Amino acid sequence: MKKRVILLLTIMAAIAIVPAEAKKREKITPEQKGILTINRPTAEAHVEFLASDALKGRESGTEHGHIAGEYLIAVLKQMGATPLFGKDFAQPFDAYSIERKNAGFTVNPEGIEKIKKAPHRIAPMRNILAKIEGKNPEEIVVVGAHYDHLGYDEMLVGDKIFNGADDNASGVQAVLQILRAFLATGEQPQRTVIFALWDGEERGLLGSTYFVNNFAEIKKVKAYMNFDMIGRNNMNHRPHHFNLMYMPEDSIYKQWLLSDIQKHSLRLDPDFKTSEDFSGGSDQVPFFKAGASIAWYQTGGQPDFHMPTDECDRINWDKMVEITKAAFLCLWKMANNTF
Ligand SMILES: [Zn+2]
Repeated sequence: MKKRVILLLTIMAAIAIVPAEAKKREKITPEQKGILTINRPTAEAHVEFLASDALKGRESGTEHGHIAGEYLIAVLKQMGATPLFGKDFAQPFDAYSIERKNAGFTVNPEGIEKIKKAPHRIAPMRNILAKIEGKNPEEIVVVGAHYDHLGYDEMLVGDKIFNGADDNASGVQAVLQILRAFLATGEQPQRTVIFALWDGEERGLLGSTYFVNNFAEIKKVKAYMNFDMIGRNNMNHRPHHFNLMYMPEDSIYKQWLLSDIQKHSLRLDPDFKTSEDFSGGSDQVPFFKAGASIAWYQTGGQPDFHMPTDECDRINWDKMVEITKAAFLCLWKMANNTF
């Protein structure tokens, strides 16, 4: 008799659990599916490889910059991403400069014509570009981060390698994790989303400039999200701090972020900075000039900026991952909501 009661109770419990579990599963939104894939081990894997001494500071136009690009292509293939152009994730371009080392490089056709008349240098560079086609491909949002850094300096005493963990392996991991999260939602976004890893930023925003100047559909680009350094603390008393920068008319980005921080319990302490002018500093410049709305995530200046000490052991990993989650949630809305 006792056994029967137990059996009956077990069956009743099982029946009660199944619909509850099913309901729970039903409730997982595409955003939640995406956010679950963003994590610290992935962040560490990308940043520790890109900022390793083996990559020698991934200077654009050099062998080590090229190796960094090969790594990004391998990661994109592994996650089943689609190249923006044809079969190839890489968008190659040549940057030109006059003969003297450290002279400025350009991708501007008029500038190149002038440079070509005298002894000059050519640096082969590559943007690495993927996309998710939207239901309405007439509207595009772009998310990007530069993957190049300053290389190495043989004459430097001591550590000669500019690892660029914060600048900007931190931003690259964000773009890669956000792309994987988009794929994990299982949903096609409303707008087309382009995921861009720019080359040549440190030499003068060359990759993003080349892209904007040559992309036939640039007029369809509504918004550009940029990452340049999201891995460090620049205020000891605010370890979860970062800046979100946007134009005054785009205060929707602030509203989204504040509600996402609550909804997803993100440990973040943002400052909001609005500006009418994004014509300096990073890869948002050519998009700003092309008329796109800008959302720029950054943790701000730090003492190891453009120094060989910009290393992995100084990264605030947990914050970097939380910023990546927040940015994914924002980009998901940029890709799907009317704004
Ligand atoms: Zn940078």
